[in-house]
Amino acid sequence: MTELERHSYDVVVIGAGGAGLRAAIEAREQGKRTAIVCKSLFGKAHTVMAEGGCAAAMGNANSNDNWQVHYRDTMRGGKFLNNWRMAELHAQEAPDRVWELETYGALFDRTEDGRISQRNFGGHTYPRLAHVGDRTGLELIRTLQQKIVSLQQEDFQATGDYEANLKVYAECTVTELLKDGDAISGAFGYWRESGRFILFDAPAVVLATGGVGKSFKVTSNSWEYTGDGHALAMRAGATLINMEFIQFHPTGMVWPPSVKGILVTESVRGDGGVLKNSEGKRFMFDYVPDVFRAQYADTEEEADRWYKDADNNRRPPELLPRDEVARAINSEVKAGRGTPHGGVFLDVSSRLPAEEIQRRLPSMYHQFKELADVDITAEPMEVGPTCHYVMGGVEVDPDTASSIVPGLFAAGEVAGGMHGSNRLGGNSLSDLLVFGRRAGMGAALYVDSLGANRPKVAETDVDAAAAEALAPFELEGGENPYTIHTELQQAMNDLVGIIRKADEIEQALARLADFRGRIAKMTVEGHRQFNPGWHLALDLRNMLTVSECVAKAALQREESRGGHTRDDFPGMNADWRKVLLVCALNADGSVDVSRKDQVPMREDLLELFELDELKKYLTEEELPA
Ligand code: FAD
Repeated sequence: MTELERHSYDVVVIGAGGAGLRAAIEAREQGKRTAIVCKSLFGKAHTVMAEGGCAAAMGNANSNDNWQVHYRDTMRGGKFLNNWRMAELHAQEAPDRVWELETYGALFDRTEDGRISQRNFGGHTYPRLAHVGDRTGLELIRTLQQKIVSLQQEDFQATGDYEANLKVYAECTVTELLKDGDAISGAFGYWRESGRFILFDAPAVVLATGGVGKSFKVTSNSWEYTGDGHALAMRAGATLINMEFIQFHPTGMVWPPSVKGILVTESVRGDGGVLKNSEGKRFMFDYVPDVFRAQYADTEEEADRWYKDADNNRRPPELLPRDEVARAINSEVKAGRGTPHGGVFLDVSSRLPAEEIQRRLPSMYHQFKELADVDITAEPMEVGPTCHYVMGGVEVDPDTASSIVPGLFAAGEVAGGMHGSNRLGGNSLSDLLVFGRRAGMGAALYVDSLGANRPKVAETDVDAAAAEALAPFELEGGENPYTIHTELQQAMNDLVGIIRKADEIEQALARLADFRGRIAKMTVEGHRQFNPGWHLALDLRNMLTVSECVAKAALQREESRGGHTRDDFPGMNADWRKVLLVCALNADGSVDVSRKDQVPMREDLLELFELDELKKYLTEEELPA
């Protein structure tokens, strides 16, 4: 029998970013004993890195804004591939979730008349992002953690134990979900510091593990984004959707090499920054696709007027959705009009006074000064695309966030559907709050529905999970995980990156098959106490699985849409819009991709769009009569 520490909960939330914390708060408020498990330090998650803001149609900066406009923008951004029910719930509930954060103690930047200030971002018709300078994620996490502490204080008053109903297990990695028959019975993991095993008996698990960016070489993501939740879900029998859609943010740092990929927030463009090529041309005017032509300015004069008078002018093309801007930058660099270090110029210095840049973009100012010795108040930045966000994730029920596995829920970046083929900036923080809450609620209701019939953890499953975790120590003479990881990142970057072709994706799949063999034989030196090589070895299994999902789905989708651009199939194809590619795991651990029809959009939501716009996306049969 495996030696381990054992705990029992109603709900276990894996991940302590915005989605996980909001889910845990909800589950605890519904009266459920809840654990939060995170592999990083508590407070260190991607959410904390979010800069620009949280999208919610509060109408503070422009009273014409409302949930219907936000819904339309989100569907357009995702090129109509979004799960429309998720997009509807998100647009409707985001303002309440932001106001609720204020009741938890959040301090957003204000308008002159004291309301929450909202800023412009790509693809949003009106200024919509509630923000705190360019450090919004930090405030979001701070506030949610503060709420958790206040709930723990309530529990202390009632029970004498702060952690009676809500406890955080930080620096603890979950490596396997356990099941009793079809239903979730618990989660198995290890303490990163000691390497000792830990088991959570729990009938409901909420995955809130974030994204997959560490499978790519150039990325804005940090070390935790190894696709653990995606892979855990698949191993437990759940399905993933939209995995071919990876968002390459248009503006990452390109120089010096040590910081390549670090994000340059879209707020720089939202606040007036413009993109120029090496010839000094504002090139985005050449890249406005037909589907967006009516909403974007075609002269610099109109684009510049928009910042002061958005009602009577069209938006600057620098604020097109991210997929469009990333592709445009890629084309300029390929055409030989890039900067010395292979990016383009992003200039805010000639657009805003120095003090205003420092006030509105303090993190960007420091980031460039400290990491690249560039003063953004005096000179342009060099930027280029960086792997930023995965639109694909666990296929969930929109209202309850439940997967197809009883007891397994998912929210935040690890869940799929909400953003379709491309996420709008700012729509992630709101997604975390809206669906984090719904996942916590869904999990609580599920636990209630079980009564006394709770699934039980089988000891044989615990032994199997422990053996699997220790397998990298068993072999001698194999490769170390670092070499394989570096090669995997390079292959994904080069062969399934921003622009894709069938033959290159096939090469990627051959490389992935090779990695599979090498991973099975890799060796980890040393012992279980804080051993980064072992941690990476365990994460690599997950990265391989998600990479296979991305590559296999990318090969099947023969069109270009959002975060999936096929050089050999350049246009959008309305027939493909109706198709979801669903990834599931075969018995041998390989990935199977099957097709599934999208659920047609509800009629009242369809009516929110002009027929002419719908014709750009839908097939003849789908159009309203
Ligand atoms: P995260 O916040 O990443 O949390 C994941 C959690 O899961 C972590 O606690 C991690 O330790 C834990 N975890 C992972 N695997 C395991 C495991 N196996 N066991 C235990 N724990 C595990 N979005 C916006 O809307 N607006 C913005 O302005 C914005 N700016 C961004 C800037 C940057 C630099 C980046 C990288 C992203 C930005 N985004 C922004 C995107 C947004 O921040 C993320 O999509 C979002 O924070 C994801 O939140 P999450 O709760 O799903 O995951």
